[in-house]
Amino acid sequence: MFAARSTWLSYASAVMKVTEVKTFLVGGAWRNWLIVKLETDEGISGVGEATLEGKGATVEAAVRELARYITGQDPSSIEKHFQEMYRRAFYAGGEVLNSAISGVETALWDIKGKALGVPVYELLGGRTRDRIKLYANGWYTQGMSPEEFADAARRTVALGFKGLKFNPWGRRPGIDFYRLENSVLDAGAESVAAIRDAVGPDIDLFIDCNGIFQTTGNAIRAAKSVEQFNIGFFEEPVPHENLDEMAYVRSKVDIPIATGERLFTTFAFQQLLSRQAADIVQPDMSHCGGMLPAHKIAAIADSHYSAFTPHNPNGEVSYAAAVQMAACVPNFFALEHFPPEQWRFDVCRNDMTLEDGWLEIPDRPGLGVEFNEEAAAEHPYQPVDLYELHRPGSNISPPEFTDRIR
Ligand SMILES: [Mg+2]
Repeated sequence: MFAARSTWLSYASAVMKVTEVKTFLVGGAWRNWLIVKLETDEGISGVGEATLEGKGATVEAAVRELARYITGQDPSSIEKHFQEMYRRAFYAGGEVLNSAISGVETALWDIKGKALGVPVYELLGGRTRDRIKLYANGWYTQGMSPEEFADAARRTVALGFKGLKFNPWGRRPGIDFYRLENSVLDAGAESVAAIRDAVGPDIDLFIDCNGIFQTTGNAIRAAKSVEQFNIGFFEEPVPHENLDEMAYVRSKVDIPIATGERLFTTFAFQQLLSRQAADIVQPDMSHCGGMLPAHKIAAIADSHYSAFTPHNPNGEVSYAAAVQMAACVPNFFALEHFPPEQWRFDVCRNDMTLEDGWLEIPDRPGLGVEFNEEAAAEHPYQPVDLYELHRPGSNISPPEFTDRIR
C-alpha cells in the first residue's frame, strides 16, 4: 500500500515544499467552480475546491492571500496549516475565508495521498463501507404541477436513483417568504403526494426548504402538511442564522431535520448539535474548512446520534472530497447528486462505477481526480448571482439529466 517509498521518505522528512498556488474559475452551468491547485518541488500537485456559489471571484482573491502563507511550507502538516490559516488569521470564520481555506486544505490532502500512494480515506481511518447511496437533486426543473413533478420523479427513478430531493414550495408562483398562503402551502403538499404516489413507498423522499420560510411558524406548518408522506428529512426549514429557531422546528415536527450547508467549521456544528437542532448535518466540502474539519464535524454529529451527508452541488473536486468522506465516516448517510455538465469530466476526470443507484468507492491515490488546466480554460468564469435561485421566475438552473447519472 505504501509503495511510493522514496516519495514517502522525502515527504516524511519534510523535504517537500509548496512552490506555487494556482486558482481556476471554471464556468459551470449555474455557478463557477473555484479550483485551487498546489504545486510542490517534488513534482506532486494537489487540487482542492473553494467554490462559493455567486461569490467565486471574491474567494479567489482570498485564496491568493492565503498563498502568501502556504507557499514554501511543508505540505504534510495539514492540521498545523489549517490552524494557521483559520485561527492565526485573527478574522476566523465566514463563508469567504472558510471556502478559501477548504480549497487549500483539501489540496494538501490530495498531495499527501498521492505522496503515500493511498486514497485520502486511508489516512482518515480507512473504509467503513464499500459503496455510497446517491440521491438526486435538480431533477424537477420542468414545472411545479403535481403531474410535472410526478413525471420528472418517474424519469429520475428510472435512471437508477433510490432517493429524490426537492423543494415543493420554492419558485412556486405567489409564494411570499413571510406570508405562506393556504393555496401555496396546499399546492406544495399536493405535489409531494403526487411524487410519493408516482415512485412508490421504497424511494427516499427528502424535502429541501432552502431556508425560504422566514417565519418559524410557517416552516412548522409546511412540515406538518407533508409529514404523512414518509419524508426522510426536512432541510433548512428556516434560515441558518438562528439555531434556537431550528431547534424549535425540530421539537415540533415528526420529520428528521437536516441543515448545515451554510455553517462552517466545528464550532458552528457544535452549537447546532448541542441545541438538538438537527438529525442530519450537511457541511459543504468547499465551505466547511476542508476534509479534516469535515471529519471532526461528522464525529461531533455522531456523538449526538446525528448523521452526516455532505451538501454536494459543486464541481468534481468537491464531489471527490465528499466521496472520500463517505468512505471513512461511520455516520455517513447518503450523497447528493446533481445533473452533471456534459463536459465536466474533460475538466476533471473522476472515474467511478455506479450500480443500481449506488456508487462504488474508488481506490486511486489522493482524491483520485485528474484536473486538466487546458480543458478548464475552455469554460471561462461567468458572472452569476444566486439571489433569485429559489424565487419564482428564476432562470438559474442546473442542466437536465440525460440518460445517465454521471
Ligand atoms: Mg440545501
